[in-house]
Amino acid sequence: TLILLIVTFIHIRRKQIKLLEKQLHSDTLTNLPNRLDFQRRLSNLIATPQHNFALIVLDLDRLKEVNDLYGHKVGDEYIKLASIRMQESLRYYDYLARLGGDEFVILLNRFKLDEDLFTVVNRLTTNLANTYQFDGISLFCTASLGVAVFPKDGTNEHELFIHADSAMYAAKKAGKNQAYFFNSALKEKLNKTIKIKANLKSALTNQEFELHYQPKLNPKTRSIEGLEALIRWNHPIEGFVPPDQFISEAENSGLIVEIGQWVIETTCAQAAVLHAEGLLKGNVAVNVSPKQLRTNKILQVVTNALADSGLPPEKLELEITESSLMDESDKTYELLFNLKDLGVSIALDDFGTGYSSLSYLTKYPISTLKIDLSIIHSAAKQDRALLVLRNIYSLAHSINMKVVAEGVETEEQASLLVRYENDLVQGFLYSQAVPFEEARQLLMDNVSKNKISFAI
Ligand code: C2E
Ligand code: CA
Ligand code: CA
Repeated sequence: TLILLIVTFIHIRRKQIKLLEKQLHSDTLTNLPNRLDFQRRLSNLIATPQHNFALIVLDLDRLKEVNDLYGHKVGDEYIKLASIRMQESLRYYDYLARLGGDEFVILLNRFKLDEDLFTVVNRLTTNLANTYQFDGISLFCTASLGVAVFPKDGTNEHELFIHADSAMYAAKKAGKNQAYFFNSALKEKLNKTIKIKANLKSALTNQEFELHYQPKLNPKTRSIEGLEALIRWNHPIEGFVPPDQFISEAENSGLIVEIGQWVIETTCAQAAVLHAEGLLKGNVAVNVSPKQLRTNKILQVVTNALADSGLPPEKLELEITESSLMDESDKTYELLFNLKDLGVSIALDDFGTGYSSLSYLTKYPISTLKIDLSIIHSAAKQDRALLVLRNIYSLAHSINMKVVAEGVETEEQASLLVRYENDLVQGFLYSQAVPFEEARQLLMDNVSKNKISFAI
């Protein structure tokens, strides 16, 4: 009896351990292997390479949107259906794992020709770009894929993964719903990004950032009413790096909080000089990224920067984007009202590019709407777009908001905006963003020009 008991016990134990092991290596939602299992599989493949193989990083394009619009339950259902479609697109000896969220990886073993690889990748992209039906909801969703081949595109796990991942990002950036194969151009770009990342941390202490200012003008008189501060990075090796290339990295690493603080402090200090000289009719705007807005520090940073510089609060405007408002949390709501109570104004940037949700405009204390350049540019080409532009102005005015039209590049575009004398325009037609001293000179010329026209 004792022996039987022991044997049974061992048997049960073994089964439990096996189950635990399985749980440890699989994703609970899809039952697919998880990140841990994938890492083990990839390192085994690399340690004993018998065939060449390809690593695909696959990212669902619209999961966040699905979650935001329909809730997480629908989001989970979508992940499950998509994972089934992936399985159906693969051969039985291929390997599929879910790393988490909307990210999947595939190991394609044993392909003889590049063509075999293209066939599978094509099948995956096509099968995934389909309508998904559940609970009476019908969604059209797609995926972006990045492919790296061992050993050509990477000889170790880290390298291979980073390269497939960067190809996936390139596919996303190029418009989603497609696959990109890692290549030498992507490699060059990736190397540049790595260098940027490595230096971003020291850029602040090395004082490599600078603020340039782009004028905001009255569309009719073209006198400068205000400015927008735009960050510039003078990289010691790469030279001038535009914000589009490092702001998102600063966001990901969290450095944006410190960089953003520097931007606010420097803007306030420089704007205070202009204000003291009587050059500043309107305000100076700074861009505040979503992550920066979510920190608890922002209110204190703005309060201190205003106090230290002596800049009156109404001379400062914070430009935020719709993505900062999307969580609709009480915290964001409270923060924006606290900022308003300080006396600074809030502008909603890039209006017309995202959801352009009207409910945000009435819910939050936003006093300025910045219309994205894409709207201005199409309004000059198309009657329907012009109608949209006119409606945005009347909507903003109806709720007492001011408008700034961004990215005005031609006289034709400018002519559409002349009638909005109480609003502002901004763009290369009038001036690019220029260093502080140049902006100051522009403002001085502006003042003397106004004096002359007044005298006449
Ligand atoms: P944004 O806030 O929408 O800024 C306007 C961008 O459009 C600027 O690019 C500006 O130089 C450019 N621009 C102005 N007029 C024209 C025009 O007529 N035509 C065209 N095609 N472009 C025009 P920039 O300086 O490269 O900044 C890009 C983005 O980087 C900004 O977009 C903003 O989102 C971000 N950014 C810039 N400075 C900061 C900063 O200090 N903090 C944060 N968080 N983001 C910043
Ligand atoms: Ca802006
Ligand atoms: Ca903008």
